[in-house]
Amino acid sequence: MQPLAAPGPPQGGIALSGASEDAQRRTWGSDTPRRSLGTRLVLATLVFCLLFTLVTISVLTYSAWNSGLSKMNAELAQLEQVYQGTLSKAIWELDRESLQTHVLSATRVPAVGKIVLKVTLASRAAEVLEGSSNGWSGAGRAPTRRLTLTYEPYPGARESVGELTLYGDERVLWQRLRGELTTIAITQLLQSLMLAALIMLMFNRIVTVHIQRIAAHLARLSPNNLGLTLGLHRRAGHQDELTLLVSGINQLQGSLATYLEQQQRYEHELAGHRDRLAQLVEERTIELQAANSRLQNLARTDQLTGLANRRHFDEAKEEELRRALRSGQDLSLLICDIDFFKDYNDHYGHAMGDQCLCAVAHTMRASLARAGDMVARIGGEEFAVLLPATNEVTARMLALRVHQAVIDRGIVHQHSKAAGVVTISIGVAVLAAGDADDFDALFARADQALYRAKARGRNQVAGPISGDQDDAPGEKR
Ligand code: GH3
Ligand code: MG
Ligand code: MG
Repeated sequence: MQPLAAPGPPQGGIALSGASEDAQRRTWGSDTPRRSLGTRLVLATLVFCLLFTLVTISVLTYSAWNSGLSKMNAELAQLEQVYQGTLSKAIWELDRESLQTHVLSATRVPAVGKIVLKVTLASRAAEVLEGSSNGWSGAGRAPTRRLTLTYEPYPGARESVGELTLYGDERVLWQRLRGELTTIAITQLLQSLMLAALIMLMFNRIVTVHIQRIAAHLARLSPNNLGLTLGLHRRAGHQDELTLLVSGINQLQGSLATYLEQQQRYEHELAGHRDRLAQLVEERTIELQAANSRLQNLARTDQLTGLANRRHFDEAKEEELRRALRSGQDLSLLICDIDFFKDYNDHYGHAMGDQCLCAVAHTMRASLARAGDMVARIGGEEFAVLLPATNEVTARMLALRVHQAVIDRGIVHQHSKAAGVVTISIGVAVLAAGDADDFDALFARADQALYRAKARGRNQVAGPISGDQDDAPGEKR
């Protein structure tokens, strides 16, 4: 695993620092009641101990009661044995004073509530001697013992002389039980409290501080410090659930760091691909634009002569018309047609005809210096020259220049009835500023002028009708 950030030294201790408490507060949230696991464990232990104490006290009470009964019974039995001989003798000897003394002393024994002595001598009437402790109100649950008193005046002559009844004192039983119960309850409660304290202490030392440390560590984590290793301050060799948890968290951090690193690498690569793609798209777009522009040029160019074709001319004419109307400048148009070109084709062949067309086209183009002037091939051997911002005088002058340039090119045409070389006829039309004509009207006027030039014998320039008669002689070559 390659961590994103260098692992920091393990921090913290048993008590959380201020930052850790902040982190803990963030983890728990300010509204969440804060109750420690240790406290809950201690409360549960205390409740359990209290219940256990109650049960224990019940069992012990029952046992103590039985043991108290047995003990009292044993005390009464011991008393019987002590008094049996002396009382029997006193009865036999009719020592009344001694009997009363014995009965009185017996009532002073704590376990005895009441003593009843029946004297049943055959020679005398039955007599009962009684004595009881102060406040005695009945035997209740205390044991009662009866003993027949016998006396042996001489060996082998045993006689019954009376009956001794000893009643236990229930109050003594309860008093003893209370004493024992107090001891039992205090002992159990102390035991419970000490157990709870021990559990609290141990749980806090073994679990709580480490969980708080883990929580603080997790709260500190961010994508930038996933390399921060979690470690608990414990003696080496501890292998328990906390060890599993810590190693699980460290493994998870490692996996997350690797995953994030991989993500970043992918994003980087993706960004690279995206850039390359964008570059490719840009290159392709430029190529496409160039191809498109070439295509557009091709679509707007006459393949034979390289001049603008009819489509290009139609686009340009509308634009130039709008520009002329907008700017208030004149727009002139020349329509040129090669004279007797059919004859040229017929005599020199179609290929030569094509070459002738090219030569005428280049000559016309070369004779016009302005970049804004447009020469287009609009038909078989017909050309149009669009002259923006050109008035009638200039248009005539330019028409004559083009006309002369073609003659000067000197392409031999022996079968032309106009001259020995290839010539052209030109019709001139001008859209003066303020005219409301559309382009078709302008074109029609130029075409009519061309028709007139042809009609007058070709190889000449014909202008607008207004100036035609004046200029015609001068234009004829
Ligand atoms: P005019 O003086 O009245 O204009 O007579 P013309 O013979 O030039 O006109 P006409 O319309 O009778 O003939 C035009 C010829 O131009 C017919 C055609 O063979 C030729 N032509 C048209 N386009 C081409 C082309 O692209 N190449 C070649 N070689 N000849 C063409
Ligand atoms: Mg023609
Ligand atoms: Mg022609």
